[in-house]
Amino acid sequence: MVKINENYLKLPGSYLFSAIARKVKEYKDANPGANVISLGIGDVTLPLPAAVISAMHKAVDEMAAKETFRGYGPEQGYDFLRNAIAENDYKARGVDISPDEIFVSDGAKSDSGNIGDIFSTDNVVAVCDPVYPVYVDTNAMAGRAGDYDEKTGMWTNIVYMPCLEENGFLPKLPERRPDIIYLCFPNNPSGAAATKAELKKWVGYALENGSVIFFDAAYEAYITEDDVPHSIFEIEDAKRCAIEFRSFSKNAGFTGTRCAFTVIPDELKLGGASVKSLWNRRHTTKFNGVPYIVQRGAEAVYTPEGREQTKALVAYYQNNARLIKNELAAAGFSVSGGVNSPYVWLKTPDGMTSWEFFDELLTKANVVGTPGSGFGPSGEGYFRLTGFGSAENTREAIERIKAVFCK
Ligand code: PLP
Repeated sequence: MVKINENYLKLPGSYLFSAIARKVKEYKDANPGANVISLGIGDVTLPLPAAVISAMHKAVDEMAAKETFRGYGPEQGYDFLRNAIAENDYKARGVDISPDEIFVSDGAKSDSGNIGDIFSTDNVVAVCDPVYPVYVDTNAMAGRAGDYDEKTGMWTNIVYMPCLEENGFLPKLPERRPDIIYLCFPNNPSGAAATKAELKKWVGYALENGSVIFFDAAYEAYITEDDVPHSIFEIEDAKRCAIEFRSFSKNAGFTGTRCAFTVIPDELKLGGASVKSLWNRRHTTKFNGVPYIVQRGAEAVYTPEGREQTKALVAYYQNNARLIKNELAAAGFSVSGGVNSPYVWLKTPDGMTSWEFFDELLTKANVVGTPGSGFGPSGEGYFRLTGFGSAENTREAIERIKAVFCK
């Protein structure tokens, strides 16, 4: 008989954001006139920068002429984009990354999920708690997570590193040694950011223990503080122990356009094997490259106009996040994040659970956010709001929240 991958049967319920979408749809169906504002899923709302649009228009025209038409491109990405990334995202910050250590892809979600393909299923994985759900779910699918315990909301083989208020929502070094450590800074969902000293500690730990760090820097564009590194490779020797994921989604609005990249330095060798070569083998076998048109759009992010325009996009969302944080703090809520991040992490009032607060917020204020418990057990009692809405909706949502909860 055909056997399925039984690890999929162990996965609890649906993906967090599908569960939220279902609840919101049910509410809207039952209340057709309701004006629901979403500060929930981390999707952007502003259009692509003009420089990106014009580069993509030009690329479309190239596709229309026999002389400039492109078919399959290099799976790892076109040189023009890999060079622009190496130059602007790394060299400009004093980090030497060569273009052939950069793999252009269709998303940090797919890369951070697929990277597990080249690692044994025996490896012990550590994640922050709360955490971007993709890391845990993809390890569960691969059979690396053990079994799901409904009572604790944890997988038996995953090492959870609680990120609690008393540690500034940063993880402590784990007591049990993991092989693979997922770190995401600035963090989704808490918005916490790791300073250089903090990241140095993790790189030291990984080197000492023979672990690999999967560093998700999808939100690096939101960093405002000087002592917060934009790349883990700003830390000495990180090239020997880390892989970095980056994305054009949140800095340039590519959530629907799809372009990202993963950096695997030549220095990262495990058991004598080059991790870069293994990923290259995997990438070239299972992936046929990001569309030429999209890569030309991503390249335009690095032009002077593109840079200005993406900066303005990020500043717009940062302002929203700051407004949410400051206004809710002034209204007596306990809030963090929102400084180096588009995310604000709110402690639910009156000891409500995350989902209780979600329901109250949806039904009484018609505002949607994301329950912290959906990101892991230590997210219980917290709630994520995002700065990705329009400025008008953000203001309106804040007023509604205050009106319902601050009587
Ligand atoms: N990594 C983190 C931490 C995220 O929060 C997200 C999206 O919300 C992603 C990766 C996905 O990025 P992409 O759109 O490039 O797949």
